[in-house]
Amino acid sequence: MRRIGVLTSGGDAPGMNAAIRAIVRYGIYHNIEVMGILRGYKGLIENDMKAMDLSSVADIIHRGGTVLGTERSEEFKTEAGLKKALQTLKYRDIHGLVVIGGDGSFRGAEVLSQEGIPTIGIPGTIDNDLAYTEYTLGFNTALNTILDAIGKIRDTSSSHERSNIIEVMGRDCGDLALYAGLAGGAEVVVIPEETVNTDEICEVIMRGKARGKKHSIIILAEGVGSAFDLKDEIKSKIDIEIRCTVLGYIQRGGTPTAYDRLLGSRMGAKAVELLMNNQANLVIGTRGSKIFGQKINEALRMEKEFDIEAYRLTKILSI
Ligand code: ADP
Repeated sequence: MRRIGVLTSGGDAPGMNAAIRAIVRYGIYHNIEVMGILRGYKGLIENDMKAMDLSSVADIIHRGGTVLGTERSEEFKTEAGLKKALQTLKYRDIHGLVVIGGDGSFRGAEVLSQEGIPTIGIPGTIDNDLAYTEYTLGFNTALNTILDAIGKIRDTSSSHERSNIIEVMGRDCGDLALYAGLAGGAEVVVIPEETVNTDEICEVIMRGKARGKKHSIIILAEGVGSAFDLKDEIKSKIDIEIRCTVLGYIQRGGTPTAYDRLLGSRMGAKAVELLMNNQANLVIGTRGSKIFGQKINEALRMEKEFDIEAYRLTKILSI
């Protein structure tokens, strides 16, 4: 393995830069050239890349986003697009590829693997929606960003004695909402994995009010619906003041937490190590303190287990 490529694809996530840095430095340390492919699969199709040297990844470990850029590419999903991507890899003499991204990017990595390109995936998404790994890169940072927002909203809502709905990201996965709700002391968490009816939410709010609570915080996962619709539903049943906050893209940015920097560094190094050992067609995951590789097709087939205990605990603790 003399030369490998790295690209970031799909939604960006804090910690991707730490992973890129680790891939470049771990590779160079082991006499492997690393090409940084720009703008995801689009750059691969368009042969847009640069050789990465040690200083190209200086001062990026603490930065959110991705220095390689990321784009979505519909063309890559077509036969013609795939052909161009394979031509680029051949032309550039790239023998292995690391793809940092979410499940969509992994499907692309699987296709490249089937075409004989040794490919390794690193899970980069704030959504934590991949079943095979306990955490994805960026999730921890996004969680802390949400907690920071909850703290600020809590200050103003207790002054005004208001209820608040905070809508958070996560696509179809409720992890950001669930863990932010548990860690942030929310009264109610509304996630795609569990149905909760509006009457229950109203009951929790009114019970809290009767106990003298000055505010209540409802965390809503975007996969369930809009904060404004939920507000209207609640207002149609009880007469209270409610404010909505849609956190949006601030959840995707910011300096990565220590956890995400460590995870990015370890996963990046592991990806190169596996390629060096001629192991490929894997995605990197973490469980406990372990970093491991798992077959891409197996990982993509797995169904995410819902943390019912965390959900129950959130309910109990918000009594
Ligand atoms: P994420 O990786 O964050 O889930 P997307 O689902 O948008 O983001 O996927 C990123 C890119 O991966 C897409 O723009 C496309 O180029 C590629 N991709 C997604 N799904 C497939 C697929 N089934 N086959 C090949 N490539 C895919």
